[in-house]
Amino acid sequence: METLDQTQLDLLRRSRARVENRTDELTARFYQTLFEHAPGLRTLFPLDPNGRRAPLADTLIWLLHRLDQRRELTDRLADLGRDHRKHGLTAAHYEAAGQALLIALEHIHGPSWTPSLAHAWASAYTAAIHEMLAAAAADRGPALWLGRVVEHQRLAADLAGIVVQTLEPLPHHPGQYLSIEIPQRPGLWRFLSPIEPARPDGVLRFHVRALPGGLVSPALVARIRPGDTWRIGPPLGRLPDALSTTRDLLLLGQGTGLAPLNALIAALDTHDDPPRTHLYAAARSKNELRALLTNGPRDRHRPWLTVTPVVPSAGTHRPGSLVGTALRARVWQHHDIVVCGPPRMQAAALDQLHAAGIPAEQLHSDPLPTSLAIRR
Ligand SMILES: Cc1cc2nc3c(=O)[nH]c(=O)nc-3n(C[C@H](O)[C@H](O)[C@H](O)COP(=O)(O)OP(=O)(O)OC[C@H]3O[C@@H](n4cnc5c(N)ncnc54)[C@H](O)[C@@H]3O)c2cc1C
Repeated sequence: METLDQTQLDLLRRSRARVENRTDELTARFYQTLFEHAPGLRTLFPLDPNGRRAPLADTLIWLLHRLDQRRELTDRLADLGRDHRKHGLTAAHYEAAGQALLIALEHIHGPSWTPSLAHAWASAYTAAIHEMLAAAAADRGPALWLGRVVEHQRLAADLAGIVVQTLEPLPHHPGQYLSIEIPQRPGLWRFLSPIEPARPDGVLRFHVRALPGGLVSPALVARIRPGDTWRIGPPLGRLPDALSTTRDLLLLGQGTGLAPLNALIAALDTHDDPPRTHLYAAARSKNELRALLTNGPRDRHRPWLTVTPVVPSAGTHRPGSLVGTALRARVWQHHDIVVCGPPRMQAAALDQLHAAGIPAEQLHSDPLPTSLAIRR
């Protein structure tokens, strides 16, 4: 966004309130205009069973809240660009989306849509697409992998372990996540984090929790069958940065959020001198923790790793505060800290760590859903 001047950034900031208050209208007008000009895109952004399409407005709002945070903004746009490769979009599609966005924005702004605001939005869109396309062009691997489910194991009523093997190896870094689409829910892409580093045989292992009322995760847990073919997008995310730290590490993981932490620990195993690492691992029960934590001191001698389980005490159902437990134990000011778990837990954990004075550059986490990330 460095091509935008201060006046344009101020115009965009002011425009944000309108976008936030009229998200449904914005989204409806955007997709209506887009499909008029590029009907072929309709299949890429299908209506979900709740009658909604991909959350365009959430992404826009998130970006509008990050206009001053250049690094975060660029990273997110780069990931979006890489991830969108799987849709096979061309420059003409991005052009059509830009036109549709301006028409939708004009619609929700009404008389307050001035030529300068239109110009600010057009410049912002061009700058954002430039970042996305540059990241997409720099990605040398395939845009999409096909993977066959080779194993599906029920670990608990709402939890499954799934093994998928890609035809071509998928070279992801430990701690990265992938977008996946399953035949039972076409067009509804969701993110999953492999629980181990990339393997030459293309095997990917995932832990999946079924969320009540969720559109995809219940199908992942209950309806996946060996032999199913998944479509898998390029690897995303920056958790692997934590592996190059010169500080000791604190890993905080809850539930299926332990997946990328397992992969990071496996990667640290290959280091000559791994940093001293403390893992606080939360789950609903000891059994669940055993299933979700595949890399602990128990299954291999790791003198550099300490694991503190955080499970509910007898008679309660919740594991208690993961971060609270860690913060009560000692001061972590000089650690790099990785936080992974359900979105609300992750957002609350990051807030607590900020409040405890941990510098932002020492905190590593995957992106939150935009609705939660916006307020941070
Ligand atoms: C970077 C990243 C990595 C992920 N890795 C994994 C993984 O390895 N294993 C896994 O099981 N899931 C993982 N997820 C979550 C997964 O991508 C889906 O969001 C989740 O399975 C819900 O999908 P759904 O279609 O069932 O629910 P939706 O229909 O999309 O949403 C239903 C409701 O659940 C809420 N919700 C969404 N995600 C969660 C969550 N994780 N916890 C609690 N509430 C939620 C939504 O806000 C919504 O209210 C990851 C998410 C991200 C962002």
